[in-house]
Amino acid sequence: SGSTDSGRHDSAHDARWPRQNSLTMKEWDIPYDELKLFEKIGTGRFGTVYRGSWHGAVAVKLLHVNALSDHSVPLDTFKHEVATFRKTRHENLVLFMGACMKPPRLAIVTSLCKGMTLYTHIHLRKDKFTANKSVIVAQQISQGMGYLHARGIIHKDLKTKNIFLENGKVVITDFGLFSVTKLCFGNKRSARGDSLGIPPGWLCYLAPELVRALRPHASLHLPFSKTTDVYAFGTVWYELLCGEYPFKGQPPEAIIWQVGKGVKQSLANMQASRDIKDILMLCWSYRSTERPDFPHLLSTLEKLPRKRLARSPSHPVHLSRSADS
Ligand code: ATP
Repeated sequence: SGSTDSGRHDSAHDARWPRQNSLTMKEWDIPYDELKLFEKIGTGRFGTVYRGSWHGAVAVKLLHVNALSDHSVPLDTFKHEVATFRKTRHENLVLFMGACMKPPRLAIVTSLCKGMTLYTHIHLRKDKFTANKSVIVAQQISQGMGYLHARGIIHKDLKTKNIFLENGKVVITDFGLFSVTKLCFGNKRSARGDSLGIPPGWLCYLAPELVRALRPHASLHLPFSKTTDVYAFGTVWYELLCGEYPFKGQPPEAIIWQVGKGVKQSLANMQASRDIKDILMLCWSYRSTERPDFPHLLSTLEKLPRKRLARSPSHPVHLSRSADS
């Protein structure tokens, strides 16, 4: 009798709901007219981000789509990447809310990140991160990235510009969108780079195998992998600790030549313990197989000796206690 019962439920369910596939795509399809767009937050290589509203505050990334190009290929890729995006639920990843998928309106809607990016903290405000704070930030990045990789998603563009810090909590953005966004040529900013289309501040995140595969206008076919994400994490770790990019001030050709040959940024002048430098060197390994994965990085970071572990008097726990008494 139980099986008859559930059978009846299933057919009722089928009648009310379309097949799973079409349902799951439609669910994330936000009609463009429902979005309210406010001020522009910024323009990146592939899209412009607006502060917006859709059942509350959101960030809307409008992709630059070349009006004259054939949309069919980008749309398929876009849909594929949106399908990837909606599989993500993790504290340290930006919340995906939906997408507008009607060309020429292609947009990604996510939660609005408060706080600033690590890039802003490190390179614009010149905020100093202590070793302890860097470790805490790096742990959260490893946690978010470990989750992405476990779900089979490669970030492809991990960098301090794509990592927000909200009251000490790391929020990673922009994952998995690299290839679709690269499809949307015709944005003027790419012309600012050189003939390889290298935007400033991108190169130092690229693993040797990516650097060696660079060709003009062929970034779509770069061999991104979990291990190239780990290499990029190494660069973020370096920025946290040193407050600047590796190979600072060097022209792209010099960086390409060195990284491609396996020359790393020297750590001789860096004030840090052996363990901390070891993490960098492992992430930046020339051979991708020698780079650690994120779960391994996380446990290494957790084992690092912490300085001044005692709670400071301004710790919230103390505050609430004294308020009670
Ligand atoms: P690139 O195109 O090279 O990745 P970028 O990271 O600056 O450069 P975008 O990712 O397009 O470019 O972001 C544009 C601006 O919008 C940046 O200032 C970014 O910090 C901001 N931004 C992106 N996503 C969000 C979000 N979810 N909440 C708040 N601000 C965001």
